[in-house]
Amino acid sequence: MSGRRSLRAYEWVTGFLGLAIVIQAIVAEGLRGDRLLMGFWALSHLFFLDKTVFLAPDVAFMPGFPIVIAALWTTGPPGTAWLILTSLIWQGIRNRDRISRVAFNSGSIAISIAVADSVASAIFRGITKPLNPLSIGGLVYGLILILTYHLILTGACTLLLYIEDPKLPFISRLIRSFKKSLTWIMPSYYFFSMLLIYLAETGGIIASVFFFSAIYALWRQFYFSQAYKQESVRAATDSLTGLANREGFRRYLDSTLSEAKLPVAVLFVDIDDFKSVNDEFGHEFGDSILCTVASLLKKLVREDDLVVRWGGEEFVVFLWNTSIEQALAIAERICGAARHCELPLGAQITVSIGCSGTDDINEVPGLVAAADNALYHAKHRGKDRVYVAATSK
Ligand code: GH3
Ligand code: MG
Ligand code: MG
Repeated sequence: MSGRRSLRAYEWVTGFLGLAIVIQAIVAEGLRGDRLLMGFWALSHLFFLDKTVFLAPDVAFMPGFPIVIAALWTTGPPGTAWLILTSLIWQGIRNRDRISRVAFNSGSIAISIAVADSVASAIFRGITKPLNPLSIGGLVYGLILILTYHLILTGACTLLLYIEDPKLPFISRLIRSFKKSLTWIMPSYYFFSMLLIYLAETGGIIASVFFFSAIYALWRQFYFSQAYKQESVRAATDSLTGLANREGFRRYLDSTLSEAKLPVAVLFVDIDDFKSVNDEFGHEFGDSILCTVASLLKKLVREDDLVVRWGGEEFVVFLWNTSIEQALAIAERICGAARHCELPLGAQITVSIGCSGTDDINEVPGLVAAADNALYHAKHRGKDRVYVAATSK
């Protein structure tokens, strides 16, 4: 069977198994119990389903999971069954083209809940429920319940990832996921779930609504600060080369200008006759040359020097603690590297560089203009060369 078909088969089998568990729970007990609370959990779950908070690039906290646990604790298997059924329908409508994945998501939750409930109930056989979630017994019961739930769910998801891409061995992938689940996910889910259960049992729906409002406010705060950060980085970055743009340069200078970093030098680098490169090989090829020059410049300067795409085919290199003699040597190296750079289609480029420097902090903001002026002289004297601004010390 091909990988894709195995994946679909696994998703559907998990989905149908989960659906059978859900239907069994509904048929057995239906709407007996606290209907209001059941509806509340189902709606809260739908609302928080996509409110994921990313704690690290590959670690996410999803408030939907503790809600499932709280629904199980306070309304039993029928409560979770209604919750899973509503989210299956809602997600199914929204993701019609990925229906097998939706079935898998709901199915794996239903299976994990059923296993966790059986394991915790088997261990706590003979003890009358409901347990107080903050008593020792309640905390242990909750720990077993939530731990089993996460381990089964992690196992099911790891198997899915393995079928999708079997390059990494299943066992090592599983161990890694378990470890991550135990160190990252479990503590936060455990405390969140127990707190939610305690609030629901003592203060009912009203207390839970207050709690959820606080979580929602935190999520919005987090979401907007993330979005702001991303937008801020985007505004300071050149989208083609990934280098800083002029806005990035302005921020860099504002935040790093200091006496301790003198002397300072600036190189103004301009690709020679770039227009004819575009004319001969096309604009897209020209773009790839700009990326090549960007990485060449990054390679030839220190990590904490700044390379900026100033605009078009012009780059500025900002060098701290660099005398004009050292800057000249770096510029000559850049010129030579561009001249001998191996490019596709036999294309060749050269660059001209204007160079300026100072050991007076008040002159730093004027260095780019001085280097630009020196560049004019480099071009005028025949290109493919470096020219140092007359006033540079
Ligand atoms: P010179 O040696 O005097 O610098 O000549 P030049 O052709 O490099 O300079 P000119 O200023 O006449 O033209 C710059 C060219 O750079 C024109 C423009 O098509 C090209 N260019 C500017 N930005 C981009 C870009 O983002 N991508 C591509 N492919 N070309 C660009
Ligand atoms: Mg130019
Ligand atoms: Mg040019």
